[in-house]
Amino acid sequence: MTRHIVVVGSLNMDLVVRAPRHPLPGETILGGEFRTFPGGKGANQAVAAARLGGAVKMIGRVGADAFGDSLLQTMAKDGVDTQRILRDPEAATGVALITVDAAGQNTIVVASGANGRVTPGDVSAAEDIFAGAAIVLLQLECPLPAVACAIELARQHGARVVLNPAPAQPLDATLLAGVDYLIPNQAELALLSGLDSTRAAVSRLQTIGIPSIIVTLGEEGTLVAEGNSGTLLPAHRVVAVDTTAAGDAFVGAFAVALTEGGSTLQAAAWGNAAGALAVTRAGAQPSLPTRRELEHLLSEAR
Ligand code: ADP
Repeated sequence: MTRHIVVVGSLNMDLVVRAPRHPLPGETILGGEFRTFPGGKGANQAVAAARLGGAVKMIGRVGADAFGDSLLQTMAKDGVDTQRILRDPEAATGVALITVDAAGQNTIVVASGANGRVTPGDVSAAEDIFAGAAIVLLQLECPLPAVACAIELARQHGARVVLNPAPAQPLDATLLAGVDYLIPNQAELALLSGLDSTRAAVSRLQTIGIPSIIVTLGEEGTLVAEGNSGTLLPAHRVVAVDTTAAGDAFVGAFAVALTEGGSTLQAAAWGNAAGALAVTRAGAQPSLPTRRELEHLLSEAR
């Protein structure tokens, strides 16, 4: 039996309006159509994995409000087990206020709301779902003490830890040493290591004791570093429409491949294919590929 994936992370509602241009401070302008999209890195990665056939259980918080209802419903529709997502009576569901101008440039203000209130206690209260988990999948949109607690519980229960260190922030070596697979993009890698050269940055993080470092390089593909070996998997050639959630698609697919017994390189190949498919479509969760689409791209590339 394939064992499950626990995701501890954020859920946001993205509130998007298009406008001819961005307003100046103090100015009001009329925009176009308003749309809402489910988002948040934790939720995106949970949905990415579930859509590819992973058994996913998520831990997080939303508010006791309409956006919270809607996020829980859409995630459940994608097959994510949402039973351990708490409803916070004192905070609003996380939102991202996004304005996109005529040139496609966006400005984003995130109000973390309930995501900022996820505690180590929330994570410990769901300890039973760490038992029997193959993978614990983490990002940095929830407070670090909760992330650290999830790493601790993963280790106690023999689950492997996948950390996507996004959004970028400095992390201490003790936390990083508990990570089995670190999946940064180039900016996150530079910030974590304090070094601009990819090779030097990877070496520095390896000395902390992270066994597998997988650097996503956008249209350049993915670098997989384990021990003394470094392998570059070139990106699939696709017509990029919107790169939102490419990283989330990558991470979700990577986790599912590991639960099915794939090697790090095989998992990164799945990630590469899922990331490529995600950039061919607009939006975050709507752009995440299905299992059939992923297998099709992988078989074509052979
Ligand atoms: P993030 O969105 O976290 O910054 P990247 O931009 O590195 O992450 O993208 C994640 C992965 O998605 C890449 O490693 C690659 O596999 C895939 N990808 C991203 N952009 C493209 C592209 N233009 N063409 C093909 N694949 C892409």
